[in-house]
Amino acid sequence: MALRGAGVTDTRVLAAIERIPRELFVPDAFQDRAWEDMALPIDLGQTISQPLVVGQMTQALELHPRHLVLEVGTGSGYQAAVLAHLCRRVFTIERLKPLLREAESRFRQLDIGTITTRLGDGTRGWPEQAPFARILVTAAGGPEPPKDLTDQLAVGGVMVIPLGGDHRDQKVVRIRRTEVGLNREDLWPVRFVPLLSDPPQPVRSA
Ligand code: SAM
Repeated sequence: MALRGAGVTDTRVLAAIERIPRELFVPDAFQDRAWEDMALPIDLGQTISQPLVVGQMTQALELHPRHLVLEVGTGSGYQAAVLAHLCRRVFTIERLKPLLREAESRFRQLDIGTITTRLGDGTRGWPEQAPFARILVTAAGGPEPPKDLTDQLAVGGVMVIPLGGDHRDQKVVRIRRTEVGLNREDLWPVRFVPLLSDPPQPVRSA
């Protein structure tokens, strides 16, 4: 994979990607394509992202080994496994239970003990563990990032998220929280499956 030629130059990111056996995260039917630079289908209509996109988004996060990182959209678990080699702990949320269970079993197989998982709607974040130094969303949100996620970003923190909603008009965006607010930087065009929010639970009367 020519990640370096495509602008992924951070040697720690490249080393983390080399360490993770991508074939473990790819369905049997696509084993022969596991290392090709393309997104591949996983179960339930979802995808494992293209290696170049994983490299670019990981690099854009500017990770430090002491960081706590929130990932929204566990999917196959591949991106979380890469992150786990670059930071202190990864909290990852997936809304589809079968995908999450498979990802958890891969983390066990690889003996990665620094990933904590949650089943649910990641647009609400993980308030009990916030604030996060870094947040990575691996599904495409609407024009603006979910407010719960920006609220859970530490001062000095960075979020990388595909935004735009419409398939033809998505961009990876980097958001930095400063003392005075949020700075937004549009990075490059991309195509991700949608970030889906679960409807609010009905309020039960006593
Ligand atoms: N990071 C994944 C990997 O390495 O395989 C790829 C993620 S896939 C492109 C997007 C994932 O986001 C899907 O598994 C989808 O079910 C999940 N997703 C979409 N909306 C979500 C939400 N609100 N909360 C949590 N997960 C969500």
